[in-house]
Amino acid sequence: MSAANAVLTLDQRLGLDHYETDRELDHIRVDADLCAACVARPCLTACPASVYRWVDGHMAVRYENCLECGTCQLVCDATGNRGLDWRNPQGGYGIVFRFG
Ligand code: SF4
Repeated sequence: MSAANAVLTLDQRLGLDHYETDRELDHIRVDADLCAACVARPCLTACPASVYRWVDGHMAVRYENCLECGTCQLVCDATGNRGLDWRNPQGGYGIVFRFG
């Protein structure tokens, strides 16, 4: 198999993507009190990019890694405590997919 036909893993494909991070306006906001009171915290397991982490009793959000799939908003509204406000990044910011 030639290098051009090599099958890339998901991590390799994601590694090709580019992120333009908006340092002025986060496109993900969490309500600290609602997240603290949330029993399920489905965002921790549903996000494919591991954007959310529960650290020392607080929700840590690495919004610059977001793939913009919208899964976190769906699961938070369905089985979480509705503490998440996710929106598409404003124009010119966010992920630029480079493979597939
Ligand atoms: Fe993770 Fe998708 Fe939510 Fe981005 S939109 S934080 S990738 S679940």
